[in-house]
Formats: sequence, C-alpha cells, structure tokens
Amino acid sequence: MNTPSETTEVRRIQPYQASKTYVCGGCNNPIPPATGHLVIVPAESPDLRRHWHHSCWERRDRLGNR
Ligand SMILES: [Zn+2]
Repeated sequence: MNTPSETTEVRRIQPYQASKTYVCGGCNNPIPPATGHLVIVPAESPDLRRHWHHSCWERRDRLGNR
C-alpha cells in the first residue's frame, strides 16, 4: 500500500476492469481497453481523477523532484 503523496490516491486498474479507451493524463495518448493502468484520484477533488499508463506515472514521479 504505497501512496506517492498524502493527498493523492493511486488505484490499480486490472485489464479486465478496463472496458473502454481512456486518455492518459501524462502523455495524452489513448489507453486501449483491456490494458492494465492506474487511476490517480486527488483527495481534495475526486472528480478530477485521471487515468495514467504505468510507465508515465513512474516517469512523472521521478521528474517531480527537481
Ligand atoms: Zn501515458
């Protein structure tokens, strides 16, 4: 149960849960159906949740420390 920040919830979406195409909040490319990915939910504004590729989220995490 690791959360990168105290105000953001990261939910893991399994391939069988992804029933449609989403747009990645990191690279703006589509995430095809049946692809495992992440949902990022800001605690203060759950309506603004975004879907992310695993790789994009990890890259953002590293870049966020500059
Ligand atoms: Zn992406």
